[in-house]
Amino acid sequence: MRGVLAGAAAVALIACGNGDTAQDGATEVQGAAPDAAAEPEPAGRVVVTTNVLGDVVATIVGDDAEVEVIMPPGSNPHEFAPSARQAAAMREADLLIVNGAKFEEGLISAIEGAKADGVPVYEAISPIEPLQFEDHGHGHGHGHDHGHEHGHEGEGHGHGHVHEGDDPHFFTDPARMAIAVEGMAEALSTHIEGLDTEEFRARVADYVAQLQALDAEVEAMLAPIPAERRVLVTNHDVYSYFADRYGFEVLGVLIPGGATLAEPSAADLADLAAAIEAEGVPAIFVDAAAPPRLAEALAAEVGIEVEVVTLFAESLGPPDSGAETYLEMVRTNAERVLAALS
Ligand SMILES: [Zn+2]
Repeated sequence: MRGVLAGAAAVALIACGNGDTAQDGATEVQGAAPDAAAEPEPAGRVVVTTNVLGDVVATIVGDDAEVEVIMPPGSNPHEFAPSARQAAAMREADLLIVNGAKFEEGLISAIEGAKADGVPVYEAISPIEPLQFEDHGHGHGHGHDHGHEHGHEGEGHGHGHVHEGDDPHFFTDPARMAIAVEGMAEALSTHIEGLDTEEFRARVADYVAQLQALDAEVEAMLAPIPAERRVLVTNHDVYSYFADRYGFEVLGVLIPGGATLAEPSAADLADLAAAIEAEGVPAIFVDAAAPPRLAEALAAEVGIEVEVVTLFAESLGPPDSGAETYLEMVRTNAERVLAALS
């Protein structure tokens, strides 16, 4: 059983790096009498890459296992690179939960390292039918061919349905998150010893119900937005699942390619400005974790008034941001979309 030793090693590493976590996993006493009144020790150690999934996993796991989240609030998950200590924690985990579909580009080698060390790696997106990145060009014939070709087969990354053009941002739709939670719960109960209890299953069911209620709430909240204003222009291609679920069109994105590392061409931006003007789009939505400069510059260039609105696209916000948890983040974003487009 590697769990206890690996757990202790990870705890020792954490103790050096992070003063705010008083870990008690290392004090586990093997010979303790099975006292009915004693609280069971945490069964294992789950490491989660993104803070969105970290909040979700911590909520359903409760105190029944340790949960370490790699990316702090406000991180850009496409670019976040782990510290040496974090990479070690990933390799020592009893289960590593990642978003998947190459979302965490800066963590790919750390994730591969964990896999090579035998850590079970679960991709949260795996139960979701992935949307494909679309060319949001407007028929102007600029070759948006930055790796958008679909269906590269035989890449050997172990998940047959994950393809080059798969959009990883499923979490912008709480209904899909509810499906993902069931999958994560299954992985947790498989890989974390002693977690598969009635209490755990009750927490999972309760959280799934909250997500479904939130989904209905968001749908009702956005209902007053008229059809012709259900148009999103965003900093990068993050809201396709949201758009698909709630009946919006993604008219265009500033940064091509589905991540945040590429640079748009002047011609692409001119096209987008023209489309915004032609459609009378009132707002450009930017990610809280990315600088709004490009959106502000574009808004200034468009011949109509365009508001730049910050959303918590793919990372939780700091305290008092209205996006401290996944549930709050989804609700806050929906409120801001409503305010900007209605
Ligand atoms: Zn993204």
